[in-house]
Amino acid sequence: MALSRVRPQLMDPLEFGPPEPTPGCDVCGALARQIERAERPNSPEYDPSKATDLRVEMRRHQSGEVTR
Ligand SMILES: [Zn+2]
Repeated sequence: MALSRVRPQLMDPLEFGPPEPTPGCDVCGALARQIERAERPNSPEYDPSKATDLRVEMRRHQSGEVTR
């Protein structure tokens, strides 16, 4: 039986807005702050490709996260 299915929400990170940081999760919080800085054009840390990487990182982290 083939029960494993790819979830549609994991299709393409570039087509979606920023993932929601899990409240109370330090990793999500740190990633969210980095994404914010990397996305701000007048920030010294501005780096859109890094922001994309960070979003992918957050999604990957959240997919392994146990939420209750
Ligand atoms: Zn998290």
